[in-house]
Order: sequence, then C-alpha cells, then structure tokens
Amino acid sequence: MLIVPEKEIAALMTRDAAFDAVKGVFASMSARTASNFPVIREAIGHADALYGFKSGFDKAALNLGLKSGGYWPGNAEKGLTNHQSTIFLFDADTGQCRAVVGGNLLTALRTAAAAAVSVDCLARQDCDVLGIVGAGHQAAFQLRAVAEQREFKRVVAWNRSPEKLDSLRKVAEELGLGFKAVSLEELGAQSDVIVTITSSFDAILQDGQIRAGTHLACMGTDTKGKQEIAAELAVNARLFTDEIAQSITIGEFQHPVAAGLIQQKQIIELGAVINGAEEGRSSDKEITIFDGTGVGLQDLAVASAVVDLAVAQGIAQDVDF
Ligand code: NAD
Repeated sequence: MLIVPEKEIAALMTRDAAFDAVKGVFASMSARTASNFPVIREAIGHADALYGFKSGFDKAALNLGLKSGGYWPGNAEKGLTNHQSTIFLFDADTGQCRAVVGGNLLTALRTAAAAAVSVDCLARQDCDVLGIVGAGHQAAFQLRAVAEQREFKRVVAWNRSPEKLDSLRKVAEELGLGFKAVSLEELGAQSDVIVTITSSFDAILQDGQIRAGTHLACMGTDTKGKQEIAAELAVNARLFTDEIAQSITIGEFQHPVAAGLIQQKQIIELGAVINGAEEGRSSDKEITIFDGTGVGLQDLAVASAVVDLAVAQGIAQDVDF
C-alpha cells in the first residue's frame, strides 16, 4: 500500500493536473461510467465535529475509494486546519487498499479546479473583471485557478469582514492583476465572472445585482440550508452543476427548486457540456450559473493523479499492509 503524506502534496500536485483530473471525471460522470455513492455526514457529538464520507467509483479510470473527513472548529487553536480530510484508494479488482493520501490541500485544489473548469466551459471569452465573494481558506485557491482561464485584467472582491481581503489582494498582485475591495453592488455591476466561496446560510448576491453575460461559479454551498445567491437569480439564467442529485439537495439549486422557481430538468451537468451532449453558453448576454457542490469522484481523481506523480518521483511510501 502506498502512502502520500499531506506534507508532500504541495510539491507534487499542480493546478493543471487538478484541472485535467476534474474535467475528466465530470465527463465520466455524465457518460455514466463513473458514479458517486450516497454521502454520509454526521455530527459526532464530540469536539463539535462534523464527520463523514464521500465515495464513488470511476469505471473508466478504475478509481475506487472514499474521502473521509470533516470539520473540527477547535482545530485552529491547536495550529491545525479546521477541515481535515484523508483519501483512501482501493484496487478495483481486489478491494485491497491501494493508497492513503493526505486530502486537505487536494480538497482546495479540486474545488478550485471545478470552478476553473466551469469558467473554461461557460464564461464569455472577453472577460476583464473577476469578482470573488468570500475571503476564507478556499478563496485564494479559487482566485489562482480561475484567473488562469481568461485574460482577466483586475479582481474585485467582497467579504463580510473586509480586513480579511488583504490575503486576496496579495494573490491578485502576485498574478499581475489589479485589485479592489468593493460593495456587492459594485461587484455585480463590474464582474464578468463571479466566484462565491462562503459558508453563508443566507443569499449574499441578490436578483438584479448581476449583469447580463456574467458567469457565476457558486462554490460555497455544500450543505442543506447554506445559500450564497438569491433563488430568483436562477429563473433567468442557464443552470449547470457537477451532480444534479447533490445540487438540488445540498447545493445552491436546493433553494430555487424548493421554492418552485425552477425544475430539476432545467439543470445541466457540466460533464454533458464537456462531452458535447449539451450546449453550454448560448449567447454573450446569457447569465450562466455553475453550482459546484463537490463530489467524491473529484477527490478520487486528484488523489489518483497525485499517487501517479508520487510514484514517478519516488516519493510515495510503500508499506506492507
Ligand atoms: P472559511 O471558514 O475559511 O471561510 C468562510 C468564508 O465565508 C469567509 O469569507 C466568511 O467571511 C464567509 N461567511 C461566513 N458566513 C457568512 C455570511 N453569513 N455572509 C457572508 N459571508 C459569510 O471556509 P472555506 O474553507 O473558505 O470554505 C468556504 C465554503 O466552501 C464553506 O461553506 C465550505 O463548506 C465550502 N466548500 C465547498 C467545497 C465544494 O466542493 N463545493 C469544497 C470545500 C469547501
């Protein structure tokens, strides 16, 4: 069995490799050669922790496994990341454990890669301004990955605590992009692409705040009750997601579906666009929304890619198990 520890991931995994792995697995999900299994997420009644599993099987890539992890709110005081993840890969022919891989950085990279794939497939070509809503742990990863998809000139950003935006300013400057902290109204009026990456339980962006032609990647809503954009925004937009079952239960589109504003059949899998089975953006005036809920197969895809890189570079630890 191979072990790729968390501390090795940063030097091994690239944004390009994460992008390719995520784009490939979205395509496989839509072609029905890969499927996610039901998600388990429980409050364990200890340390205020939420703990669970995301798992699945990609028959084409033979990626079988799970990501185990969750959220420990007291970790920051211990100098640890609040979100903790470990990915386990199993041999699809024998069921033996093939690899154990640190999943913290990979989670951020695969989530940012999903937003980047959505921008690659759905945003207009002539994008100047990238809007970011949120400035937590994931936000800088989102900025780096999405900025690579178009020739953006500047970044506008909003966060509930504006002082936290300095971390995003540093990344934007490092990427050679202008940066401005703005109000939500300004962000909606100026942005060509908007990424939302917060843990909000109330809509932050309102109907009417987004201009025609914008692509929105809503990446923060991954739990029942969370919400980043007004449900009404979905009514006049073209709607995409990674997985429809998750989108309508734990993703952003749970709200417009529950309110009867849209029907499930209006939501298109991004993989179907990648495979050419569905049209993506149909005009420069259209608003497109990608609801990135985060699926287990994304984790398996990036973990498998990192195991291959670790083996090729002699970094994977091989243990008898
Ligand atoms: P974090 O705790 O580091 O940051 C949280 C962010 O949300 C901050 O910017 C905070 O200001 C903002 N926020 C919280 N409550 C808010 C409110 N009521 N109104 C406005 N802003 C609010 O979290 P993170 O690690 O950056 O993760 C952000 C979100 O992304 C979380 O909800 C997390 O569960 C989700 N996530 C999704 C995926 C996926 O695949 N879709 C993967 C990882 C994380």
